[in-house]
Amino acid sequence: MLKVLVILLVGSSQWLHAAGQLRAGAAKVDISHVDTQPVNDPPYVKALVLKDDTTTAVIITMDVVSIGMIGSVPNDYMEKIRAKLNADLGIPPTSFLVNTSHCHAAICGDIDEKTVECVKAAWAKLEPVRGGVGTGHEDRISENRRFKLKSGRTADVRHAYSLPADEEIVEVGPIDPEIGLYRFDRLDGTTLAVIYNYAVHPIQQVPNGRNTADMTGFSSQVVEDCFGQDTTALFIQGCGGDINPVLYKDVSAPRNAETLGSLLGISTMRAARKIKTAEVGEFKIVSQTIELPRADFAERIDLKKAERDKLVASLGGTSLNFKTFQPLAIANGLSQDFPSYYSHRYLHDRKLGRADYDRLDAENQRNMAAYLNNIHTMEEITRVQTNIRLLEMHQAQNVAAGKRTLDVELVGLRLGDFHMLTFPGELTVEIGLNLKQAAMHENTFIAGYTNGYIYYAPTADQLRNPGSAQEDCDTLLAPEWQELFEAKALEMLNGL
Ligand SMILES: [Zn+2]
Repeated sequence: MLKVLVILLVGSSQWLHAAGQLRAGAAKVDISHVDTQPVNDPPYVKALVLKDDTTTAVIITMDVVSIGMIGSVPNDYMEKIRAKLNADLGIPPTSFLVNTSHCHAAICGDIDEKTVECVKAAWAKLEPVRGGVGTGHEDRISENRRFKLKSGRTADVRHAYSLPADEEIVEVGPIDPEIGLYRFDRLDGTTLAVIYNYAVHPIQQVPNGRNTADMTGFSSQVVEDCFGQDTTALFIQGCGGDINPVLYKDVSAPRNAETLGSLLGISTMRAARKIKTAEVGEFKIVSQTIELPRADFAERIDLKKAERDKLVASLGGTSLNFKTFQPLAIANGLSQDFPSYYSHRYLHDRKLGRADYDRLDAENQRNMAAYLNNIHTMEEITRVQTNIRLLEMHQAQNVAAGKRTLDVELVGLRLGDFHMLTFPGELTVEIGLNLKQAAMHENTFIAGYTNGYIYYAPTADQLRNPGSAQEDCDTLLAPEWQELFEAKALEMLNGL
């Protein structure tokens, strides 16, 4: 009799526990484009389905550049996967958080079908989990790509153009070294999944030039290998709009995403292992669409064109061309006092009261300075011209849109003490730092590149930059967007 009672009690407590229990399932599917180039390390779509009695959240991460607009994921991707997964599994359209790492991998043509397949595989594996939040630190792999010049203007680091002269650069912007993460363990203690959030453009590439999921593909692989318990690591890109990998412009050694990505993986792993998992507690996902003001770049384009014309007009004639400039630059770099011949010739000359070599050197140095001045002007014209093209493209898009606002979906996710807010554009790092600082919850994390793509989303100050930088030209937004977004983001975060 006692035995039966014990069994009944155990049975009923398990049943009660199961009723509010969060369940999770994870899966990943290779999304490489197999025909374009050989694969170094495959890009993936990964899905983490989270479900209790009342709520379902589907976190999807993809090693792609964006959802629509600039990459090969179609513009109707979100609509398609929402409709299909609602029809087949009954998942509400508001349950999705789909983040792209922003790496430049070449991917398959049927990304929506692969995503659906991945979510279904995760759904089929739902099992009870415990969870816990954590934070890590990584400051060796990223750098802010915007810097202030002596002129007060801002310029940026791209391969699309050359950098300003070293002596012009006086200050660099901040990075966000924080890794925000959440670990899900199965009830047997093994780790089912880790989601982790960090801000960096994963655009370092690999030395063999093959298809790669880049830095954040490697970091996820480190986490999955280290846990080795059928663990899925899902990277959620943060406010990486103006954050580059370090050594992005290196020309002396092959750029290698694996080195930097592995460091991120190790730091993530170090933080993930410290997490103590428990019952997840509050579990919520909310989605809201807000309207943000579109920019009118007409005046800015006119100003930039006037600036370009002024730069062109400032070019002066020079005696030297690149062929004659180069050996002179090397000779003067090696020996400033005696660039044209051995020093004894100069000394003999001087003893005889002549200064022929000194005069020649002075003339060469004047010509070199004039030539270099033209080069710097040409480089500045390249930066201005490249950014005028971006402004003109977005001005045309904003005019074609037929309305002065842009609809933007924000998602809020709460998992116990973990709070996340997402945005579709490339948020610059200061916005993430602002929100983390202002939010009432300690473990607050911000993700860009989620549930759509609207190009860059720089701060109001960055948008007013009189110089030329990608983030403030490769955007659809007017400066007023920042205040509207930050207010709504805080309201959503604090209400989670
Ligand atoms: Zn970008």
